[in-house]
Amino acid sequence: MIGIFGGTFDPIHFGHLRPALDMLQGLPLQEIRFVPLSTAVHRMQPVATAAQRLAMVRAAVEGQPGFVADPCELQRTGSSYSYDTLVSLRAQFGPQLPICLLTGLDAFAELPTWYRWEDIAGMAHLVIMRRPGADAVTDPELRRWMEPRLATDPAALAQVPGGLILCREVTQLDISATAIRSQVAQGLSPRFLLPASVLAFIEREGLYRLQALTIDLNDP
Ligand code: ATP
Repeated sequence: MIGIFGGTFDPIHFGHLRPALDMLQGLPLQEIRFVPLSTAVHRMQPVATAAQRLAMVRAAVEGQPGFVADPCELQRTGSSYSYDTLVSLRAQFGPQLPICLLTGLDAFAELPTWYRWEDIAGMAHLVIMRRPGADAVTDPELRRWMEPRLATDPAALAQVPGGLILCREVTQLDISATAIRSQVAQGLSPRFLLPASVLAFIEREGLYRLQALTIDLNDP
């Protein structure tokens, strides 16, 4: 069974990595593939380029057995849809391999707005990682839809290729890429919120710094 963790990763941080490790250790997963999305569908476009975000993901997963950086969405043009990613993974791994789509609760709550979401839920398991500050699923319709698909035993997911939903508590780390970008823009260090190798890359590339504002005071 493999796990797929998609995100903008602008930049990847410990709020992604630690919950992913919780999943790797708590579920019968051989590996977790971190999939940086290319063109965002449900949010503002990332600040760093696709190549920079992939480089940061590669730096972050280096040395962690079972963590893999997967550029599959960056190789496609147009919007990044989880559906297309799953189709390409199914083509790669076949129809039988159990695949778990790992999402934060906030992202899961938006599931009915995803392109071909019911197909997605049939092609893979959905594993919800509870994120700090996020409540339980509140939408009554989504709750009703979830109920018959809910699994409690992680081992059940390894028995079928997809179609189940599992909720898991993960280490609560109130870290967001937005906060990291804002700290860098203010000239503050985001050290200890993300891997040192990722921070070194951000510094080397001059990422997330505010563009120097040049005002010519002599200009009337
Ligand atoms: P941004 O602040 O730019 O919106 P982000 O930190 O939320 O970014 P994303 O790349 O958008 O990071 O997140 C990808 C996935 O990781 C989403 O499913 C999101 O819910 C989850 N996630 C992000 N931060 C955390 C965290 N601190 N704890 C648990 N899950 C997280």
